[in-house]
Amino acid sequence: MKRDEIKTLDDWRDSIQHAARTVDRAPYSHNIVSLGLGAIARHWGFAEANKAIRDFKLARKGWPELPVPTEPCDRCKRVGGAHEDDCFMMKGH
Ligand SMILES: [Zn+2]
Repeated sequence: MKRDEIKTLDDWRDSIQHAARTVDRAPYSHNIVSLGLGAIARHWGFAEANKAIRDFKLARKGWPELPVPTEPCDRCKRVGGAHEDDCFMMKGH
């Protein structure tokens, strides 16, 4: 997933917001929302992903807010579920 490294938080939020409007009708929308929330959580932390869930009313569409991890990452030491770009947790997801 090289491409998510060049997207900004606003880029991800825009694509989530757009996909959320058609999530019940367009087959790819569900995947786009899930991909976007995962990218936001890894890059900017779970609190930021939860904010998108609230802002775009995604809980009612099947994306509950997630508990924010309290322990820092073992490898990159970032907190809140976020990771540095070169952390191993950014790979294979
Ligand atoms: Zn990490």
